[in-house]
Amino acid sequence: MTVTVSDACIGCRFCMNLCSDVFAELPNGKAYAIGGEIPADAKEMVLEAKTNCPAVAISTMGE
Ligand code: SF4
Repeated sequence: MTVTVSDACIGCRFCMNLCSDVFAELPNGKAYAIGGEIPADAKEMVLEAKTNCPAVAISTMGE
């Protein structure tokens, strides 16, 4: 599974606080996600972040 964050992010930090291995903050306060395949043990948290992102800015591809 890979994950991306769109420009719709409002910088609420929810995803970053939930899973700092995958999500980090850009200088503009928005989130970005690490590139490449998500570590297996982080997938559940990534999906939780995606479900609860208030800006619906998190997208995943693959399993
Ligand atoms: S949860 Fe959504 S809006 Fe909040 S920082 Fe992450 S991507 Fe941005």
